[in-house]
Amino acid sequence: MLKSEIIAQMPKIELHCHLDGSLSLKCIKALAKNDQVWIPFKDDEILQRAQAPETTKTLLEYLERFDFVLPLLQTYQNLELAAYDVAEQASFDNIKYIEIRFAPMQHLQENLTLEEAVEAVLAGCVRAEQDFDLKINLLICGLKQEKLSKLEKLLPIFDRVIDEHLVGFDLAGDELNFPTQTFASLLTKVQQQGISMTLHAGECPHCAANMKDSVALGAKRLGHGVCARDFSKAELEKLIADQTVLEMAPTSNFQTKAIQKLEEYPFKMLYDTGVHVTINTDNRTVSNTTLQKEYEKIASWYDFTVADFEQINHYAVDGAFVSADEKEKLHQTLQTAYEKIKA
Ligand SMILES: [Zn+2]
Repeated sequence: MLKSEIIAQMPKIELHCHLDGSLSLKCIKALAKNDQVWIPFKDDEILQRAQAPETTKTLLEYLERFDFVLPLLQTYQNLELAAYDVAEQASFDNIKYIEIRFAPMQHLQENLTLEEAVEAVLAGCVRAEQDFDLKINLLICGLKQEKLSKLEKLLPIFDRVIDEHLVGFDLAGDELNFPTQTFASLLTKVQQQGISMTLHAGECPHCAANMKDSVALGAKRLGHGVCARDFSKAELEKLIADQTVLEMAPTSNFQTKAIQKLEEYPFKMLYDTGVHVTINTDNRTVSNTTLQKEYEKIASWYDFTVADFEQINHYAVDGAFVSADEKEKLHQTLQTAYEKIKA
């Protein structure tokens, strides 16, 4: 198995990380202080409330954990700080490019507008880019349990907030009760607007149809795509031909009960078949993880080499919502660094 020190040296690309699920303890306490809210808990009790136990029974139980931090993410100052905090954690993971996603509608409980919420997070990303050696982009999430009419209000953000860091759209949340087809009209509009799209799909048992529908509706990437294990050979070949990127997150995929045991986890089967799989944290705090830990998990399960991890990161660059020039630069950065590690 690869040593932790070697994994730590590997530059990494992360495509799937939720802002509100990834705040450090230090940040949660700073947000509360800014809001002049007294959190009557010790550090380990704060974490208990923000983290999902390893024994969550469903995706919905996992999602409940977000309720603890959301009240603290309702001001410009705190959203800016939260974005900076997640980017700082990414720098500790030796991440060179990260896409952070957040659902602006969750942050309007005080008096922020949708645009202000997005601008606050963008400001935190820009400040972090000045302080850390990584590039950060932002995705806007809609939650599947919201009404369609509300979700449509997210699309004008892409016209009103002109910022090169705002690069894509995602639908997250309750996949069990709100299958992808529910959103066909909305997703058609996203595509017509020319917005890059990744969609949560195939994260619950027997949800393979959502993956196929998401690709048909224009998604270039899928979070998390675990149900690809139920795909036929022809369906897997289509994923490869389309270069669809699967944003997988080992710890989260177990916690949401997308799978129950390691033998069911299709990561290695998909990688060996040629599917463009990637490794992500999903939610650093809720899943009590880091990207380093997710790589260590994969390394402990499978006999992956440094070259395999390099390949997985090249897949992530191919799927990143950046220009061809930026992709080329990221591929170069990876290649140079991995050459040294392999030497
Ligand atoms: Zn997710």
